[in-house]
Amino acid sequence: MGGGFGPHLYFSTEAKMSTQIDSQAYLQYSLKLSPDEIRLREQMMRFLPETIIDCHAHCNLESHVGELDEGVMHHMMSTFPGFSLEQSAQVKAVLYPGKHVQTLRFANAYRGISHRAANEYLLAHSKGGDRVALFGIPDDVSYTVWMLETRNVAALKMYYQYFNPPATLITEVFPEPILEVAQDLGIPIILHLPKIITKSLADLQQLLGNFPRLVVVLAHLGLPHLPIPGLQEAYDEVALYPNVFMDTSMIPSAEVHAMALKAFGPSRIMFGSDEPLNLIRSRVFHHPTKGERLITEYPYHWVDPDDHAQFQHLAHGLTMTHWQVLSAIQQTTVRLPVRTWKRVIEAVFYTNARSVFKFS
Ligand SMILES: [Zn+2]
Repeated sequence: MGGGFGPHLYFSTEAKMSTQIDSQAYLQYSLKLSPDEIRLREQMMRFLPETIIDCHAHCNLESHVGELDEGVMHHMMSTFPGFSLEQSAQVKAVLYPGKHVQTLRFANAYRGISHRAANEYLLAHSKGGDRVALFGIPDDVSYTVWMLETRNVAALKMYYQYFNPPATLITEVFPEPILEVAQDLGIPIILHLPKIITKSLADLQQLLGNFPRLVVVLAHLGLPHLPIPGLQEAYDEVALYPNVFMDTSMIPSAEVHAMALKAFGPSRIMFGSDEPLNLIRSRVFHHPTKGERLITEYPYHWVDPDDHAQFQHLAHGLTMTHWQVLSAIQQTTVRLPVRTWKRVIEAVFYTNARSVFKFS
């Protein structure tokens, strides 16, 4: 991707953060709901149970944000590099009025975040009903193992884009000595596959074969934004392993949700938001020469100015990804027999995550 970030802007972290990322403005823009979103919110508050567990949310302070390299700066995940517990509470109040939401949080996963400091922040300041997933450091096995063994963490998150260039194999992201400890302690891992599930299948099967007691939660339903060839078959294969669960975060396609539900059933799918990234109003579009791209109405710092000028109209009137995902889950649920709805909704939005991540 192109873009106007010359090297001179990388002179200091402070200058870069303040001149290029105005997360406050982004948050204000997001929290101003459109009439469509207000309608969707009313609809979803009728659909959702009274208590919800969000099992995929990012949280760390701006003071935990160090040098963000160009790869990160060009990615939508750099929209809110600092997003505090207070901001999370503010967002939850807007998105789920009247509901009780418990959250599993972990640091922003990409390189450039002080993950150790973020881990300490979340462990020290999370409220009673919420839980923390340790952000493990792939090149510091002893730290990661020590944290797993001594701290009260609900899960282990590690991320392929911790490395630059990004890791392509699961065990580069989660070194085997760490997986052994997670398996022995019964701590689930949150796995954002290094490649889409259809292309990570052999790698994933090897992991599941080598660690048969490890609980694995695949983030983003294994990454397909849209139905792709071989997806149902890949889901069916992975669903043969009883310790694999999925989170719904950031996948707006009802067809993909339906395929996941068909393979895994309602007791192995869990609602995750990817907060604060769920606040972005975007959709995937097929660029004539560049392939899949995200388009937004708002000119975020990571948006390519040329693409924005040319394709912005495709984003007109989009709702937040949050509402797109909830709508997809709702559409998938109402295709099931009516007598199962209540049980499915309770399972996906509450009871599955409660037992997998040991919420109380
Ligand atoms: Zn995430």
